[in-house]
Amino acid sequence: ETHEKLLHKDKMASLGKLAASVVHEINNPISGILNLLALIQRIMGEGPLGETEIQQFRSYIHLMETETGRISRIVSNLLAFSRQSKLTVSEVELNRIIEKALFLNANLLKINRIKVDTHLDPTIPKVMGSEDQFQQIMMNLISNAAEAMEAVGGTLSIETFHTQEENRVVIMVGDTGVGISRENQKKLFEPFFTTKRKGKGVGLGLSVVYGIIQEYGGNITVTSDVGKGSTFKVELPLNNGKKG
Ligand code: ADP
Ligand code: MG
Repeated sequence: ETHEKLLHKDKMASLGKLAASVVHEINNPISGILNLLALIQRIMGEGPLGETEIQQFRSYIHLMETETGRISRIVSNLLAFSRQSKLTVSEVELNRIIEKALFLNANLLKINRIKVDTHLDPTIPKVMGSEDQFQQIMMNLISNAAEAMEAVGGTLSIETFHTQEENRVVIMVGDTGVGISRENQKKLFEPFFTTKRKGKGVGLGLSVVYGIIQEYGGNITVTSDVGKGSTFKVELPLNNGKKG
């Protein structure tokens, strides 16, 4: 089999694995919503509604809202990942994508009192690939960093550089947040691994990021100290770029 075909097989296998866990994750909230709808219908069938029933309905609606939101987040996280084969490929300036992602997250960073420290090497080569995918990588890493420093504030540092020997572009995303335990560092990139409260995280961000980087033949690693912060390192090879 050609290299191209093998790459495609790999992609389909990881997509298949992801799809299986997605079906499971989406099924739970949907059954929950269906049960609540049946319950509401039954109560309505029993006669006129009193104040108690209305109160009950309020809490059911709230639950359905939370669960629908969860499904919506799961779906939107996956959309960009599954669309990948149809994405437009061009020569992308990563520094510009980083600036854009920072701009889009400006409010989140501001309300969490996060200082941004960038060292973007203006001489790094352009990378062949999809802007949308690179943006998704950056959006996920930045929002995770912001969430790790939620309320207490801190510093988000982003650095880019080019390694001559390996001919790779490297993006470092560091935060001074809560950090990640050794145990959790092993699970970070698994679909649906999250330590965030229900209604906040769905645990797909890093698995999508991982999937995209794999597709470019790249690498993502993390170093972290609990209580001190974390740094994610993204490496993208230049000679092994995406062909579309
Ligand atoms: P989510 O953000 O929805 O929880 P992710 O896949 O983006 O899902 O991240 C998975 C988990 O990895 C998070 O719940 C968190 O425990 C951990 N994590 C990711 N980035 C960071 C970070 N910068 N600092 C601390 N923990 C992190
Ligand atoms: Mg996330």
